[in-house]
Amino acid sequence: MMITYEEALEIVLNNAYLFDKETTSLLNSNRRLLAEDVFSDINMPPFNRSAVDGFACRRADISLELEVIETVRAGQFPAKNIEQGKCTRIMTGAPVPEGADCVLMVEETTETASGRIKFTGEKTKTNISPFAEDVKTGDCVLNAGTVISPQHIAIMAAVGYVNPLVYRKPKVAIIATGDEIVEPHLKPGLSQIRNSNGYQLTVQAAQAGTEARYMGIAPDTEEDTFRILNEALDQSDVVLLTGGVSMGTYDFVPKILEKAGINILFRTIALQPGKPTIFGTRGEKRIFGLPGNPVSSFTIFEILVKPMICKMMGVNAPVKHMRLPLGADYQRKRNDRMQWLPVEIREGKVYPLEYHGSAHIFALAEAGGLAAIPLGTTHMNAGDLIDVRPV
Ligand code: AMP
Ligand code: MG
Repeated sequence: MMITYEEALEIVLNNAYLFDKETTSLLNSNRRLLAEDVFSDINMPPFNRSAVDGFACRRADISLELEVIETVRAGQFPAKNIEQGKCTRIMTGAPVPEGADCVLMVEETTETASGRIKFTGEKTKTNISPFAEDVKTGDCVLNAGTVISPQHIAIMAAVGYVNPLVYRKPKVAIIATGDEIVEPHLKPGLSQIRNSNGYQLTVQAAQAGTEARYMGIAPDTEEDTFRILNEALDQSDVVLLTGGVSMGTYDFVPKILEKAGINILFRTIALQPGKPTIFGTRGEKRIFGLPGNPVSSFTIFEILVKPMICKMMGVNAPVKHMRLPLGADYQRKRNDRMQWLPVEIREGKVYPLEYHGSAHIFALAEAGGLAAIPLGTTHMNAGDLIDVRPV
């Protein structure tokens, strides 16, 4: 039975459970999903901090020649208070002494013959970052659900949150299938073709934040496919097979999945490319049989597998979605499937790329996105709005 893309997505997402949480280190937390709110254990700045190198003094005194009573470096604390006619030589990041209400920039001062400091500017900014201006002790500084990036790591470091609690990374195994498939370092024989999918999918999965593992090529025999599938199931949460799902005599994948005790939830989707796409579960394992052509497996990963993986990792809005006008008319012969096209996005408009079908990896390489022609639609005009997934 053929189902729509929306139905397939719903089935897949209904089977996405949330992974466990684990702690990690700051340096290993990048691009992982924060699993709890983070609070500050300090005030920031922790004191009235000088924003410049210069002289801390009273604003009322800036027309006077000022006596330097002390030098304070970053990491030191001033011992003396500022009184009338006095100043403290101060470095960026150092605490401003009591009594001072501004810091004159060193570039705007000169030293008199007697060693006093004279302001050469007209007016001065305060040049003081006040105590607790940015954050107060106990403030929530990051929310659960944040996808951690370097800027967030700076914040976690600053508040002493050194063992971030994150969602566990799903382990994803990737299996290529096909007697004709050879690894890329080999020159293909007459009837052979190099393995694009194994590598493309492994990197797509890794980029989605998983621990991705490439398992090699399963030859088109039941025994080999069964053996490698079981190995993959033992080691991972999600298994992606590519190829072997069509109607050919040697397309063993559906049969092998059943033999391995996998409960198949759908086998075909009204999609182009990607009609023969299988999804099944066995306990907590999630298994996809993806089409063999590289553009198809790429597309199905982006529109079906990735949303599931992201949901399992706790990401709230995993997939970017845009609705943009078509830059040119689009026409197709049949409309019995939803179609995803490699497109270019130029000046806010969507242009379908020259595309020779689902083995045409070069069209995909130039694509800025995948755009969806809805089921039932044969013709779209320039200016019609179309759904686009940036890739
Ligand atoms: P299949 O579903 O196994 O019949 O594969 C469909 C098409 O995709 C065939 O032309 C295969 O040669 C091709 N194909 C299958 N697996 C791969 C792969 N890993 N890399 C590149 N092309 C593939
Ligand atoms: Mg095959």
